[in-house]
Amino acid sequence: MESAEIRRRWLSFFEERGHTVVPSASLIADDPTLLLVPAGMVPFKPYFLGEVKPPFPRAASVQKCVRTPDIEEVGKTTRHGTFFQMCGNFSFGDYFKEGAIKLAWELLTSPVEHGGYGLDPEKLWITVYEQDDEAERIWRDVVGVPAERIQRLGMGPNFWSMGVPGPCGPCSEINYDRGPEFGVEGGPAVNDERYVEIWNLVFMQYERGAGSGKEDFPILGDLPAKNIDTGLGLERLAMILQGVRNMYETDTLKVVIDQATELTGVRYGQAHDSDVSLRVVADHMRTSVMLIGDGVTPGNEGRGYVLRRIMRRAIRNMRLLGATGPVVGRLVDTVIRTMGEQYPELETDRKRIETVALAEEAAFLKTLKAGTNILDTAVTETKAGGGKVLPGDKAFLLHDTWGFPIDLTLEMAAEQGLSVDEDGFRRLMKEQRERAKADAKAKKTGHADVTAYREIADTAGATEFTGYTNTEGEST
Ligand code: ATP
Ligand code: MG
Ligand code: MG
Ligand code: MG
Repeated sequence: MESAEIRRRWLSFFEERGHTVVPSASLIADDPTLLLVPAGMVPFKPYFLGEVKPPFPRAASVQKCVRTPDIEEVGKTTRHGTFFQMCGNFSFGDYFKEGAIKLAWELLTSPVEHGGYGLDPEKLWITVYEQDDEAERIWRDVVGVPAERIQRLGMGPNFWSMGVPGPCGPCSEINYDRGPEFGVEGGPAVNDERYVEIWNLVFMQYERGAGSGKEDFPILGDLPAKNIDTGLGLERLAMILQGVRNMYETDTLKVVIDQATELTGVRYGQAHDSDVSLRVVADHMRTSVMLIGDGVTPGNEGRGYVLRRIMRRAIRNMRLLGATGPVVGRLVDTVIRTMGEQYPELETDRKRIETVALAEEAAFLKTLKAGTNILDTAVTETKAGGGKVLPGDKAFLLHDTWGFPIDLTLEMAAEQGLSVDEDGFRRLMKEQRERAKADAKAKKTGHADVTAYREIADTAGATEFTGYTNTEGEST
């Protein structure tokens, strides 16, 4: 089943069952606590928090999501992308636990000819929060899942809150057994690659108080209106329904891999390292196009830096695969053609997206070679001195003058067996920021000379990447 069909079925299944279909919101969250939208529930947050009265009791959507914290997994696990689409159904004080569980089961296991996804019920494993007897009972007695395929998990994976006082509650996840070729048996509690998580059901039923983070806080009581928030990864379901080994081999991503092969001559399936690179390229180029499409432009801060970092990583992986000239134009074109079916605004906006992407590639290619030489020399010097750590000032120079995001330096140093003095790097970044601030202040009071202005203009914005420490992450 094609991704487009998975999406259509999702929306019509829930629409037929009284849900209002809500189009995907932009990846740029209308929410000051978030850099980018990491989950389908984000546009509905005001309803869940009781700030706005929901205009409908039930909703369904397929939301564009970006999770930068998952970047390290990309290409290495079979199921994490930085961009993915989260199919969700939501109830605002309407149906609750039993309703949500029955709907999920019906959609997953109904035969394809009756509008479902036709999954074999015997391959589905359920996890519930360790204290949620009610959810376990519903799965076992109402739906009929055998007790041995229901596992209890602790708060980490199976209890949801926003990390602050407000609504919270247990989760229940549906996982698909991909069989012994993916490793040992024992259920999702034991092996999350074999028993891949496809759908998370969040039962928002309590109000939590202040405490530390996501696990240590008091439960103040029941919410006046209980809510349902669910999220299913479209690419993960596509992987299962298309019978492929990982999400990068599904219809909308494989074509990007094929384009990368055309540009480099490196076939998918040839070797482990080049496969990881091909998957990174496919994932990162798609994420880049989706971000630019929603109005992000490459820069040195916030969202702009997320985009810069992801695009530059894709470009460097194309170099690792042997590309020598520009490659971004062809890759962007492929992504727009494959994603444009579901997001027609990409086609309408094609010119602008291409212009932004090509300019970033040109800027990076200008400095990539010289920066790589500097890095290689620094690596040789460090090794010659018997060291294992690349000095922070080198990383700073690479960042500041040669446009190397710190993680690119980390990655390239690691490939040569070195780590990087990140504390030293951050100290220099901080000093530079303070200098720029002081200069800007002097500028305001009219006490700086013209050369100082130019220096500020040249270095302005070269601030630290905030994408990691931001509150985005596991949300649904
Ligand atoms: P995992 O444990 O596999 O990292 P998660 O528990 O972080 O997933 P949730 O926050 O529960 O994921 O999100 C709901 C659903 O979205 C998941 O069940 C999965 O199908 C999908 N999903 C989450 N992260 C990704 C990702 N990085 N790439 C693709 N799909 C994802
Ligand atoms: Mg999980
Ligand atoms: Mg989950
Ligand atoms: Mg995760």
